[in-house]
Amino acid sequence: MKNINRRKFVNQSLKATAFTVIGSQLASNVALAEEAPFAALQFSQIALPYATNALEPSIDTLTMEIHYGKHHAAYIKIVNDAIAAENISFATEKDFFANTSQLSAKARNNGGGAWNHNFFWQVMKPGSVTPTGKVADAINGTFGSFDKFKEQFTQAAITRFGSGWAWLVNDGNTLKIGSTPNQDNPLMDISDMKGTPLLALDVWEHAYYLKYQNKRNEYVANWWSVVNWDEVAKRLN
Ligand code: MN
Repeated sequence: MKNINRRKFVNQSLKATAFTVIGSQLASNVALAEEAPFAALQFSQIALPYATNALEPSIDTLTMEIHYGKHHAAYIKIVNDAIAAENISFATEKDFFANTSQLSAKARNNGGGAWNHNFFWQVMKPGSVTPTGKVADAINGTFGSFDKFKEQFTQAAITRFGSGWAWLVNDGNTLKIGSTPNQDNPLMDISDMKGTPLLALDVWEHAYYLKYQNKRNEYVANWWSVVNWDEVAKRLN
């Protein structure tokens, strides 16, 4: 039985017993004592690694301010509220996503939103430099050339219908390109696309609409100028 269910079962059993024998006040104490050993996961928002205007002109300042300060902050708050309200007791992000199939839509969507954006901010920086070394070797080996890789990733990003993410992942030492809907990610057990995320692009309209309106293709084309390949290299082992 997975953590979330076992914990609910134990708490419910204890409560049922205590209610019968000695009443509700003690039952609640017993339940609290039972919860104490669990250090439930809390998501936290990383500090933005650059100023909100640093990715201009690819990503405009107002979009960054709203995206980081409002959208991402809300995902973090709501997932932490859901973890508390729903007694979700997974201790790590890895376990949380490996058991997404057991979570509520609220926990799934906002947990994904919390994690995906922390990742997204890190894989960008002002002044991208085309990758060399092991990243270039892996990309050329898998896709034939850097240009072919860019074409394929761009296709994944612009053909994702509605809101979602494009990904480059490492799946058992094989690089793969794909996309996920909504705030799903390749760490989730429910995701068709799985692997260790190396690079991600947010293609929700909130990520580009103020500057690009309906021209997602232009947003994607300009985004290559702010990819932080050093962060991709760190994740490619
Ligand atoms: Mn977003």
